[in-house]
Amino acid sequence: MSVPTAAVDRSVCAPLPVLGRDVRVPLVTGGEVDYAALDYAASAPALQRVWDDVAAYAPYYGSVHRGAGYLSQLSTDLFENSRTAVAEFLGCREGDQVVFTRSTTDSLNLLAAVLPADCQVFVFETEHHASLLPWRGADVTYLDAPRTPQQAVGILERALAGRGTSPSGSTVPALVCVTGASNVTGEHWPVRELAAAAHAHGARVVLDAAQLAPHHPVDIADLDVDWVAFSGHKLYAPFGSGVLAGRSDWLQEAEPYLAGGGASRQVTRRADGGVDVEWHTTAARHEAGSPNVIGVYSIAAACRALTDAGFDSLVEREQSLVTKVLDGLGEVDAVKVLSLFGDDVPRVGVISFVVDGWNSSHFAAALSAEYGIGVRDGLFCAHPLVRTLLGGDPQDQGECGAPDGEPGERSLNAIRVSFGAGTPDEHVERFVTAVKELVRDGARWNYRTENGRCVPAV
Ligand code: PMP
Repeated sequence: MSVPTAAVDRSVCAPLPVLGRDVRVPLVTGGEVDYAALDYAASAPALQRVWDDVAAYAPYYGSVHRGAGYLSQLSTDLFENSRTAVAEFLGCREGDQVVFTRSTTDSLNLLAAVLPADCQVFVFETEHHASLLPWRGADVTYLDAPRTPQQAVGILERALAGRGTSPSGSTVPALVCVTGASNVTGEHWPVRELAAAAHAHGARVVLDAAQLAPHHPVDIADLDVDWVAFSGHKLYAPFGSGVLAGRSDWLQEAEPYLAGGGASRQVTRRADGGVDVEWHTTAARHEAGSPNVIGVYSIAAACRALTDAGFDSLVEREQSLVTKVLDGLGEVDAVKVLSLFGDDVPRVGVISFVVDGWNSSHFAAALSAEYGIGVRDGLFCAHPLVRTLLGGDPQDQGECGAPDGEPGERSLNAIRVSFGAGTPDEHVERFVTAVKELVRDGARWNYRTENGRCVPAV
């Protein structure tokens, strides 16, 4: 996967309008500024166009699938058309299914629930907890953190080569779970190469695209992965829906993820007093209950908006912001940018770092209170990865205001800045300036610890 890094003519591609772009926030030092939302990796703001599409549809909202009325039929059409729009956005193959879920976490738990008997699962310890934890009821192998993309492929190949066979002598089914882009370092993973290695050993692959899909086109056929999972709220559609798209066989051979209406085609009472159920064999099998029509529609709207804006030019523009941030942080000796694979591997707009002599929570609090910049500090639901990157046990980060180590010592926590299609250049420029000023001059305000977090002592 290659990401263009060429300089961008900004007149060609401006940031996409997002909600909240005009929100003003107060500074502890006086006055107010435009809020700089630089926590896209957690949740991105809604695209204005997504909001407009949802608002235009909202008066026509109706129950889907079972309603006889006009609005129910309209909503059913929009719901099913949204499935088609997502399938097109992901380049789905003939026979692939798009199942609507609540989120990436939900999608991966769904896949974990439909694994065939004896399925072995392989997952790198560096994954987000949503990719790391759902397989704990299965025969799961956690793979060590690789330090290069090539090493990742080698580690996976060795693990798959030693894979078990069933008592009948046949190779047991296997699934490899891999992230597209890290939620900590933003680094791209060698998805195509890992998928090829997995398939060569008869294993299947699910791509956790939670951080890749909002920042880079994902083509399921081109990457040759078996499933893709992502969340609407990271793809500028924060209305509570997610996606699991890909091969239908494991999904359709398993019991429904949730039992209930919508998943069942027919339910009959047996003579012995029990109940027989015939389940759907479409995506509906795993969508029991009344679906989140607005959430689903908003994801389709986001897919259309990104495609219409020209996803490649959005990538190009985002890369210019990545370069700006990395160059700016690179000028500050006290800052260490976290990286698993080194400088040669492209990143999406997700960058984590630590600052010598600073408690990360203190630093993030000062960015917010003194500069109106919203970033995230912590371990980012990827504890083993952060442990590897920081070289120690991630723990409680200590008292606010008290640096968690002398200059040069390791930090227990990190700061993450993340951005995307709606981010103006000014936000990342303000961020870089703020980092430089805080490191040079220190915080201009006092902070205290409240419920484990740093807050201004006002
Ligand atoms: N995978 C990755 C790489 C993520 O960054 C996240 C969210 N931070 C998830 C999975 C889980 O996404 P969600 O919380 O939307 O289920």
